[in-house]
Amino acid sequence: MQDTYRHKGMRNQLVKEIAHKGITDQQVLEAVRDVPRHFFFDSAFTEHAYDDKPFPIGSGQTISQPFTVAFQTQLLEMKSGDKILEIGTGSGYQAAILAAMRARVYTIERHRDLYRKSQQILEKMGYKRIQFFLGDGYEGKEAYSPYDKIIITCGAPYMPETLLNQLKPGGYIVAPIGERSIQEMQRWQKQEDGEFIKSSYGNFSFVPMVKGK
Ligand code: SAH
Repeated sequence: MQDTYRHKGMRNQLVKEIAHKGITDQQVLEAVRDVPRHFFFDSAFTEHAYDDKPFPIGSGQTISQPFTVAFQTQLLEMKSGDKILEIGTGSGYQAAILAAMRARVYTIERHRDLYRKSQQILEKMGYKRIQFFLGDGYEGKEAYSPYDKIIITCGAPYMPETLLNQLKPGGYIVAPIGERSIQEMQRWQKQEDGEFIKSSYGNFSFVPMVKGK
């Protein structure tokens, strides 16, 4: 797989487009400019890689829309070296964006095929600070907790308590919450006393967060 000037040009266009739609965090825009999204597509479909649209990636799942990835990442207010837990590895694109921003990423996927494929792609791309787990995101990954930030990239019917417990005080969890096809983007910040400050950021549509492997 090659990253050509043409691909870079298309990424510059995409960055302009999502900036126009409201992404202001320069670090996030830079990561979208840096990470070749077409590497996450089967070769027959790479023409679609720089549209601001979600796309099917097999096993009935999708790679999230670039704007949505950037929007959730912006809400995380990332700092270099942050330890991040991602629920729903999927294609691995969101994990790559986080790693490009110098995070240490722990990512969980329940589909074995996607778990394998995303790992292969990201290792080939040279990301060393991503750890992959096959499992149920509802359980989180206690062994490496607490996390500075947690991001859920599938539609969760409710905010999972287990994940709240694995978050550091001061940290954020960003998740699309809702039982139906539309979810509300929420960010909860954990206070020192263990309570949460909650904010909402509009409606999105994700594939559902499903229990079990
Ligand atoms: N972050 C991904 C988005 C993929 S779509 C990307 O950048 O491409 C959401 C993913 O969440 C799907 O791959 C789906 O299989 C996964 N998922 C759904 N429920 C899950 C659960 N309980 N635990 C882990 N992954 C889950």
